[in-house]
Amino acid sequence: MTGKVYLIGAGPGDPELLTLKAYRLLKQADVVLYDRLVGQEIIELIPEAAEKMYVGKAKSMHSLPQEDINSLLAEKAKQGHQVVRLKGGDPFIFGRGGEELEELIEEGVPFEVVPGVTAAAGCAAYAGIPLTHRDYAQSVRFLTGHLKDGTTDLPWEELVHPAQTLVIYMGLTGLQDISQSLLKFGMSATMPVAVVEKGTSKAQRVFTSTISEVYQVATDNEVKSPALLIIGEVVTLQDRLAWYGKY
Ligand code: SAH
Repeated sequence: MTGKVYLIGAGPGDPELLTLKAYRLLKQADVVLYDRLVGQEIIELIPEAAEKMYVGKAKSMHSLPQEDINSLLAEKAKQGHQVVRLKGGDPFIFGRGGEELEELIEEGVPFEVVPGVTAAAGCAAYAGIPLTHRDYAQSVRFLTGHLKDGTTDLPWEELVHPAQTLVIYMGLTGLQDISQSLLKFGMSATMPVAVVEKGTSKAQRVFTSTISEVYQVATDNEVKSPALLIIGEVVTLQDRLAWYGKY
């Protein structure tokens, strides 16, 4: 009998941000394929008896190509296993979840998708930055700073817009480019920016600055991946609302 694949969002790091459903399915898994962004404390929740496979992507490290991950999922499920595909954050937000399901559909393997707390929600909450606020932002936009072809070619003119918060995933490598482009397209040099490194984990660091200074601030503080950029007036609230690690 064919098993099933559960595409599960593990949230941004804090294991308590797993959903009850994610936790239950993880505990019942025979095989777990997980990414680089899945926190260590979550990996420790994987049952002893389950087959654990790291398939993460890191720029320089050896890892499984996407096609191999897709076929591995199908293969393991066809052997009758309950397969958990664990991804950082939410599987449908910059998580290639859609691509992995395509192959399962072709192979006739049943699946379920379990949403997770995406980095934007997790980092914003733990940094004390509401992504929307009636006085500052009526919309929020999630973007990737790293396109498939390696460039950072975003619709800049749409991004420089009042009352809009920008959340940029994978924006660290292209940070200089991103900040210069936003300035060039008319963003105020004093626009507040937060860089959240390892958000929701015990090692979380938050740096607030402005769009004209953010690159220097990130460089001076040696900010490392994973890091999320939050750009907008809402960042000014961080001063008063920051709570994580304080009490
Ligand atoms: N599917 C994931 C995003 C994967 S893309 C989600 O929904 O969150 C990877 C990018 O997400 C990283 O480069 C970083 O920008 C962001 N990210 C993920 N986890 C993070 C964390 N704990 N802290 C800061 N940024 C994080």
